[in-house]
Amino acid sequence: MPSRLLSFVVPATCWVCGGPAPDAAPLCAGCRRALPWLPAGCCPRCALPAHGRGGCPAERLAFDAAVSVVAYEGAASSVVRAVKDRGGLALVPMMGAQLVAALPADLLRGARVVPVPPHPLRGRLRGFDAAGLLAAELATRTGRPLDADLLRRRGGWWRRQRGATRAERLATGRLVVEVRRPIPPPAVAALVDDVHTTGATLHACALALRAAGCERVVAVTWARAL
Ligand SMILES: [Zn+2]
Ligand SMILES: [Zn+2]
Repeated sequence: MPSRLLSFVVPATCWVCGGPAPDAAPLCAGCRRALPWLPAGCCPRCALPAHGRGGCPAERLAFDAAVSVVAYEGAASSVVRAVKDRGGLALVPMMGAQLVAALPADLLRGARVVPVPPHPLRGRLRGFDAAGLLAAELATRTGRPLDADLLRRRGGWWRRQRGATRAERLATGRLVVEVRRPIPPPAVAALVDDVHTTGATLHACALALRAAGCERVVAVTWARAL
């Protein structure tokens, strides 16, 4: 009863359209329906529903599997922006629940949950670390251990890689990530970010995890850029 009373006194509003949302839900029914769900049968390696001419873009990347829930467009990109830019923390449990429902059974078996580290400058300016929040939510919901600050962006800058081929630069995005401490066995990581775009950031993190002895890295993201 108290929560009903509260929702009467302070009507919940949808984080995407600003309209009324029922029962303190973060989205109204219309925006929830408008989420661009990925179809069943997406590629287990890159999470795309279909490959372009170049084949699976994750074939040369350092993570072993990838899973996402929605396409990064429309209402889904509004949700991501609401978390990052407007502090829409009430959206994170919804995103976590949707991710857990979409995870293939046993995908996270033995895994530690590791968020993609925030850019130090961006973290300081905006303060909302979507990857960290989502990783904590995923760890809670799956019962897997959370290793919140295992990874760090070295120097906080996109370091220039002299001599690297264009493909290598694209693949690593010039991002240098380091692992702060040994990873206890079984060294399996569920690498969490809010959005999977080119895979360059996930690749840079997966490279660091592999160099530190990780046997398997699964990229877990809420939204996938098509
Ligand atoms: Zn709405
Ligand atoms: Zn693929």
